[in-house]
Amino acid sequence: MPYHDSPPDPDELFRLFVRELAASPGRAGLLVRLRIGHGPDEYGWCKHPGHAHHWEKHPCPALRLAQLVERAGGQEQAEQSPG
Ligand SMILES: [Zn+2]
Repeated sequence: MPYHDSPPDPDELFRLFVRELAASPGRAGLLVRLRIGHGPDEYGWCKHPGHAHHWEKHPCPALRLAQLVERAGGQEQAEQSPG
């Protein structure tokens, strides 16, 4: 029987999320989509319209997530590389 006493650890959930994204076959396209429009404006804020109602410093969380997924995928490829 699995335990349901304590809520799942958000950090663990996040790491699993990143690993799952990194392992997904559509990772390359996902990384491109995550980064579209997320560029710095002249003041160093991200200018993506998704941040229209709050300021996000560039690089914003979407870009940082893309970077994490890219790194996780890179590590996996290095470990599984056939040669
Ligand atoms: Zn952004």
